[in-house]
Amino acid sequence: MRAAVIGAGLAGAAAARTLAQAGFQPVLFDKGRGPGGRLSTRRAETPQGEARIDHGAQFVTAETAEFQALIDEAAAAGAVQEWRARLVSIDRAGGLQPLRPKARWVGVPGMSALVGTALNGLDVRFRARALRLSGEPGAWHVHFEEGAEEGPFQRVALTVPPEQLIDILARTDADFSGLIEEARTVQIGPCWTVMAVLDAPFDPGFDGAQMLGGAIRWMARMNARPGWQGPECWVLQGATGWSQAFLEADPETIMRALCEEAFVRLGMPQPVWAGAHRWRYALVQQAAVTPYALHPSGTLGVGGDWRLGPRAELAWRSGLALGAALGGVAPSAQGQAG
Ligand SMILES: Cc1cc2nc3c(=O)[nH]c(=O)nc-3n(C[C@H](O)[C@H](O)[C@H](O)COP(=O)(O)OP(=O)(O)OC[C@H]3O[C@@H](n4cnc5c(N)ncnc54)[C@H](O)[C@@H]3O)c2cc1C
Repeated sequence: MRAAVIGAGLAGAAAARTLAQAGFQPVLFDKGRGPGGRLSTRRAETPQGEARIDHGAQFVTAETAEFQALIDEAAAAGAVQEWRARLVSIDRAGGLQPLRPKARWVGVPGMSALVGTALNGLDVRFRARALRLSGEPGAWHVHFEEGAEEGPFQRVALTVPPEQLIDILARTDADFSGLIEEARTVQIGPCWTVMAVLDAPFDPGFDGAQMLGGAIRWMARMNARPGWQGPECWVLQGATGWSQAFLEADPETIMRALCEEAFVRLGMPQPVWAGAHRWRYALVQQAAVTPYALHPSGTLGVGGDWRLGPRAELAWRSGLALGAALGGVAPSAQGQAG
């Protein structure tokens, strides 16, 4: 009994673990070059040396036993650590408030390490962009960009963001109208992210800040993260509305705009190296509400953070529930790899 899981982010990893527990042999396919999805770590060569920069999710929190179990597993493997940092919110007038204390976890040496732990022991194929499916319920085939095909699979879990999901389903010769219509109701906002390397330490009195009322919604000092080795480096993430307004702007414009705002509001010096990344689909604004949805055959289902909300933990929970529904088992507390 083989299962294909398309998308090897946290949701895909959770679905695959649960399917493995239910007796399936899961194979994960991801278009990326390595583990992470939106828990992503970018390696950059800069004039100040190599940097591994978390330019997607900044930290994760666990409110449920299911996700805490993954954090504990990753902590035992040395792949996450609690981020005990000076975290604040800053209003338009420059007023600083400490963020509510709670356990915030970061991947070591980068956020993608958490997904690496979740995928441990599973059969994962990277650089595999799924284009469409063929076959029939219980005997699905997956077709890839390069013309390759894999199958048959008794189950298929699709854990890609809704736009990519709609593309795959719409190209497939089967009636997925219910799943497509539902995915169309979901909204995910973009996020322009700037990575800025400085030639000297810059300490504005905090390590991470939620910024209110400007173009930047979050900025963080990579050097304040456990396990960091590298030059002085800051990540600046654009607010959703601002990122939407400048979605098609060129990276130079984005780097200039966000660095200028960090200079004007906090005195951050001009970087000696900067890069920009556009997350076209970053944070869920309107979710589908239920943890997963199934094709009427019960052999194919969809999941991901977009089912529940804009947090890594919700992606994990969606994936566990999807894997359990496809595998015909009760949702597990931990989604251990089989
Ligand atoms: C800038 C930013 C900041 C964030 N900050 C936080 C935060 O601080 N805390 C927090 O908890 N969450 C945060 N998040 C949200 C968190 O990253 C997501 O909720 C979570 O990573 C989603 O996991 P997922 O598995 O649902 O999707 P993803 O991680 O997006 O995984 C989907 C996978 O599908 C793959 N894929 C897509 N299309 C195809 C295809 N056709 N074929 C094969 N593979 C495909 C992708 O490569 C990707 O690996 C942030 C996200 C972003 C972008």
